[in-house]
Amino acid sequence: MRVVVIGAGVNGLVAAIRLARAGRLVTVVERRDLFGGIAAGEEFHTDYHHIGLTHDSAEVRGEVIKQLGLQGGYGLQLRPPAPLFIAEPDGRGLVLEEQGSELAERSIEAAEGLARWELLQEAFRPAVRMVLREEAPDVRQEAALLPLLKKGWMVRGIGEDHLLELLRIGPLCVDDWMEEFVEDPLIRTAVLWPALVGAWMGPRSPYSATNLLMDAASHEYEIIGGPAALVKSLLLAAADAGVSLRSATEAKAIQVSDGRATGVILADGEVLKGQVLVASAPSTLLDLIPAWKLPSRLVRDLTNVRVRGTTAKLHLALSGELQVAARGETFERMLLGASHPMDLERAFDDVKHRRLPRRPWLDVRLLTGDSAPEGHSVASIMVHCAPYDLDGGWTDEARAEFTERVMAVLEESCPGVRELVVHSELLTPPDLEERYGLPGGHLFHGERMVDQFYVMRPSLHLSRHTTDLPGLFVGSMGTHSGGGVTGGPGMLAAERMIATPR
Ligand SMILES: Cc1cc2nc3c(=O)[nH]c(=O)nc-3n(C[C@H](O)[C@H](O)[C@H](O)COP(=O)(O)OP(=O)(O)OC[C@H]3O[C@@H](n4cnc5c(N)ncnc54)[C@H](O)[C@@H]3O)c2cc1C
Repeated sequence: MRVVVIGAGVNGLVAAIRLARAGRLVTVVERRDLFGGIAAGEEFHTDYHHIGLTHDSAEVRGEVIKQLGLQGGYGLQLRPPAPLFIAEPDGRGLVLEEQGSELAERSIEAAEGLARWELLQEAFRPAVRMVLREEAPDVRQEAALLPLLKKGWMVRGIGEDHLLELLRIGPLCVDDWMEEFVEDPLIRTAVLWPALVGAWMGPRSPYSATNLLMDAASHEYEIIGGPAALVKSLLLAAADAGVSLRSATEAKAIQVSDGRATGVILADGEVLKGQVLVASAPSTLLDLIPAWKLPSRLVRDLTNVRVRGTTAKLHLALSGELQVAARGETFERMLLGASHPMDLERAFDDVKHRRLPRRPWLDVRLLTGDSAPEGHSVASIMVHCAPYDLDGGWTDEARAEFTERVMAVLEESCPGVRELVVHSELLTPPDLEERYGLPGGHLFHGERMVDQFYVMRPSLHLSRHTTDLPGLFVGSMGTHSGGGVTGGPGMLAAERMIATPR
């Protein structure tokens, strides 16, 4: 039985390997001329490479790595996440790392508070991981409540006190929650910012605490070489499993006959017969099948997914390394432009009003080694908060002004950085949409928010990776248990295809 996978991102590749190993004849079609989707490493300037638009690889599911055997013959190597340096105006900032001594030197009270927070995370982690690891329950069945109750029962295993705490925390804003543990605003900022990535939220927004809870439970080990190394390892495993990979091959339409998906029509007219797994943004289904051939409920669900991109990507080719002047050191991971949760809130205010952020905040990775010529480096920068629908549009002037504001933030900590810039590449949310097919330029094919999570990601009827059309499945980070570089949705979609009678 042939399966055609549309999209060779991390999830498409994970699904393809699993399906091929289960005996399916798998063809993956990828529109771009390289594989890996937004996790692929690319040369953005002669001799300067990034390790994926994504630079954080600490969310890859341990069970996916294990099940596919990526650490064995396929070269994947893991390490603990790199320490994070967070800058503060007129200060040395702080290096946050496991068992770090700087935290205790700065504030014993904050170190104790974070230790209490860590303990709480430990208590919640098994329940959160179970939710992310397993298929979402089938809420369409008559007995829908049964699997949900079963899960609820398992979650009870975390103990009554913690369960009540979980119910209390869920709707909280993340800043209020963190303030229960730590007063120091710099440390609060260093811990809570991941809750805001890929979310239409500031730290004072309701339910932002849930995002931090999910994020903290998802992080495990980083991949040496980042997402690009994961893609390399997946491609080796795919070749071994006999997956046929076709780059520069665009799926133009999904063939539907008698209410079933029967194959994929390529841009050049070639037809590939078989079951179909859409491993790109779920809403691309609307481009691949005329709306009148789809059940109206499916069209409504796909149209309602919220994808308001708020992050831009800036790649800088540098003729040296970014040195933090206050410390005379370089750091692989840095958070710049925010030393107080209110800095993050103000930047989000600008997004809400469709303005350029007065002061964007930056998640920076400094890449050396194979990424740049000897003595040079690459700064891979996630720039938050960049509105997709900027008032007046992303004109050349707006792009120049935005880049200038990013450089001003970089200069505060790393004076002289401008003189190091050999080349820069800015990808605004509309650029991400155009080049990488990300609707709304959104990082995760769907905002992170409780109503787009678990059984509701991307909707109540699609979260189990099936659609209302037999033979058609969905499995990218826009479905349960995405987003992020996890491989979870691809694996769950493949398992669902294998378990579904043809
Ligand atoms: C700027 C940026 C930064 C990010 N940072 C992080 C981070 O730090 N940490 C993290 O965990 N996650 C991050 N993410 C998200 C993460 O990269 C993704 O969750 C992950 O790569 C999984 O992607 P995927 O396989 O589901 O989809 P994608 O990588 O989007 O792959 C989908 C593929 O489908 C292809 N395609 C689409 N339509 C067609 C068609 N019609 N025919 C053929 N091919 C098609 C596309 O070209 C693409 O290759 C970031 C994303 C972006 C954009």
